[in-house]
Amino acid sequence: MITQAANQPLLDVRGLTKHFPVGGLMRRRHVHALNQASFTLDRGQVVALVGESGSGKSTTARLLTRLMPPTAGEIIFDGQDILKTEPRKASAAYRRQVQMIFQDPFGSLNPVHTIGHHLERPLHIHRAEAGNIREQVLELLATVGLNPPADFADRYPYELSGGQRQRVSIARALAVNPRIILADEPISMLDVSIRMGVLNLIERLKEERGIGFLYITHDLASARYIGDRTIVMYAGHMVESAESAELMQAPAHPYTQLLLSAVPNPQAGFAQRTVQARGEVPSLVDPPPGCPFAARCPKVMDICRQAMPARTAVSAGHWVHCHLYQDAPAGETHDRSPIAVH
Ligand code: SF4
Repeated sequence: MITQAANQPLLDVRGLTKHFPVGGLMRRRHVHALNQASFTLDRGQVVALVGESGSGKSTTARLLTRLMPPTAGEIIFDGQDILKTEPRKASAAYRRQVQMIFQDPFGSLNPVHTIGHHLERPLHIHRAEAGNIREQVLELLATVGLNPPADFADRYPYELSGGQRQRVSIARALAVNPRIILADEPISMLDVSIRMGVLNLIERLKEERGIGFLYITHDLASARYIGDRTIVMYAGHMVESAESAELMQAPAHPYTQLLLSAVPNPQAGFAQRTVQARGEVPSLVDPPPGCPFAARCPKVMDICRQAMPARTAVSAGHWVHCHLYQDAPAGETHDRSPIAVH
């Protein structure tokens, strides 16, 4: 039996890396989908992973579910490196404790089975002491706000709205008493009017059950709302992280500054100004050395194209991978002022 020390994070990811071989039989080239990703997730914490498509955030989640093996790195869960203790595939105990909910709540539910059936299955498989299954199904439905639960248990997925189906997905994950839920874009396919309800449900489950959530999104506004901490990803790299409020108020990385400039600001109205990034998102196939954002960065320097910037502390709990925050050569200073908007 493993027990969590008081100051030990629930999940401690170190240098997690995934490179996919491509190029036919020779397979000498690799897609660098995720590189040296390191972060922690505590009990009762929401960590938001933010980035564009192809930034590596979903690869991170899939590696954590053990759906595929990493190229390198450690996943310390509850004090144990699970890649060493379970080198081939995840044990049933790990799979039970680390659950995933997906972007498309309809696609993850079988249309020929009732909602009750979807919730009974994990109870039968994972809970030896399942007891009265029907009662537990009704309790789960009530927990996620689907009332009256007996009514919802006997309905089919097509009879529910998108928001109600996502609540069923969350109830199914809760059925096995998980300690971590990996939520991959859980609101992006929902109507704007019902997104807030799902986010508030995540918030409540975090508080009441102490579940750690990894909330994956391309949307900084929802990360700001739900995330205790936000990690920004770009081209397979974690480039900046801080407590969400700090990150939104004082972004250090030029890419984060560009992302934030695109988030609608109700106070700025139509007068809001945006920053345009030059250049293309880099290819992930055997990328060149240096900072992955160099081709688009308004503050790029010679060193940026030569060496990958190390992780540097900007303030307590706020780190960034950017040469601007490393020591400048003798006699020079780095321009760390926020990027000017046009
Ligand atoms: Fe821009 Fe250089 Fe910082 Fe990369 S390391 S974000 S290119 S200043």
